[in-house]
Amino acid sequence: MGLPTAEVVICGAGIAGIAAAYHFAVRHGMGGIVLVDERPPLSLTSDKSAECYRNWWPGPGEAMVAAMNRSIDLLEELARESGNVFHLNRRGYLFATADPERVPHLVRAAEEAAALGAGPVRRHDRPHADYRPAPPDGFEGQPAGSDIVTDRATIRRHFGWLADDTLAVLHARRCGWFSGQQLGMYLLERARDKGVRLLEGRVERVQTTGGRVSAVEVSGVGGTQLLSTPRFVAAAGPRLKAVGRLLGVELPVLCERHGKITFDDAVGAMPRAAPLTIWADPVRLPWSDDERAALADSEHRRLLDALPAGVHGRPEGAGDSRSVLLIWTYDAEPVEPTFPVAFDPTYPEIAIRGMARVIPAMAAYVSRLPRAFVDGGYYTKTRENRFLAGPLPVEGAYVIGALSGYGLMASSVAADLLAAHVTGAPLPPYAPAFTLGRYDDPAYRAGLETWPDSGQL
Ligand SMILES: Cc1cc2nc3c(=O)[nH]c(=O)nc-3n(C[C@H](O)[C@H](O)[C@H](O)COP(=O)(O)OP(=O)(O)OC[C@H]3O[C@@H](n4cnc5c(N)ncnc54)[C@H](O)[C@@H]3O)c2cc1C
Repeated sequence: MGLPTAEVVICGAGIAGIAAAYHFAVRHGMGGIVLVDERPPLSLTSDKSAECYRNWWPGPGEAMVAAMNRSIDLLEELARESGNVFHLNRRGYLFATADPERVPHLVRAAEEAAALGAGPVRRHDRPHADYRPAPPDGFEGQPAGSDIVTDRATIRRHFGWLADDTLAVLHARRCGWFSGQQLGMYLLERARDKGVRLLEGRVERVQTTGGRVSAVEVSGVGGTQLLSTPRFVAAAGPRLKAVGRLLGVELPVLCERHGKITFDDAVGAMPRAAPLTIWADPVRLPWSDDERAALADSEHRRLLDALPAGVHGRPEGAGDSRSVLLIWTYDAEPVEPTFPVAFDPTYPEIAIRGMARVIPAMAAYVSRLPRAFVDGGYYTKTRENRFLAGPLPVEGAYVIGALSGYGLMASSVAADLLAAHVTGAPLPPYAPAFTLGRYDDPAYRAGLETWPDSGQL
């Protein structure tokens, strides 16, 4: 009896593997797709996300903005065809600053983003400015680009819940959030309708014959099986490096631990219709003398220093939900991924204290910490924070991953690119920016040493 066969074996049923299966089967009509995972779909990293999206990315070059615009086009298409089952909104990302020296940086960032294709900049620096806030739901008919509001009265009128000393806000508009779980399940169901098979098990080995992929060994509850296949896709999230090694390929990726907290915002500090709100300034937390003395003698003494810019949060859930989600990655060293992921028990308190700088009403929670749910996972990323989608140096082997902190929003374009590489469909101009082959270019490698800004939040 011959081996069971597949046209493509995808290792990993996170959002990357599922989006790849969907693009192969639904958009390219390919049969024989097997999606292998040792865990339930979407359960390792893809259900830990803050579920936000943005076309707001720095250079160098236009590739990142172009790719994200394509990804958002695809998300909008899926939202339209599905009756928006995954609740895509367009509330935007609101960057706020109280530092006069940062205001010109925000303006420059907006101009750079506009030049890269994110959309035009609108300045609102007078009373009665025609700034148009975002609706809480839906995504149609909204502006792209960004609004920079420096008129304090306009800031107070629309964002009166922000700190009184807020001097400027930048509202990036082709941005928002959605339910990642519902998007993933929608893609998976569509893919399964077109014959994609989900196989529970662990990819242990990838066999090559004459230098090209010939079979994949999968171990599961029923034992070990060998699937004969000419194509293998590594979509292993934080296990990408280990899965690359099954092919003898050393993938240039690292992992950082990132956590988020959710809690019941009983005092209604954050309006339910707020955009994703990001403080653009570093924060020095206010500690009492006793706290300061205790921290100085502890492993947490660095909390006395200014902590990095970027504490952010948004309201979570619809209807009567009072839940708020916060993230503040003040510690992002590369680590070896281990599971279950452990978080510093002080993280919820620090995130809440940080957000109280942005939204003063959050200070109500500092003296009486709410019960917070903490979870998260790993950002698996390349050093310049650009994902990988394309062929590997072994014939028949491909990668989709290193999706860092933006894999929910970028999985659609990454899968679109991957499927084009596999099927030979035309590739867009930004495709080379996301292949492993980019590192073969000495000029690109040299540029990594002075890469300006990874765009990470
Ligand atoms: C705190 C946090 C906030 C985030 N916020 C956002 C956000 O706002 N917006 C956004 O777009 N993204 C966000 N992200 C990033 C996003 O969650 C990830 O980029 C995305 O989930 C990565 O998807 P993946 O499919 O590559 O990996 P995963 O979801 O980890 O899936 C990989 C799968 O591969 C399987 N696997 C690995 N090895 C094997 C093997 N040998 N055999 C079988 N199966 C294997 C694993 O079991 C797993 O199911 C956030 C992430 C975190 C941690």
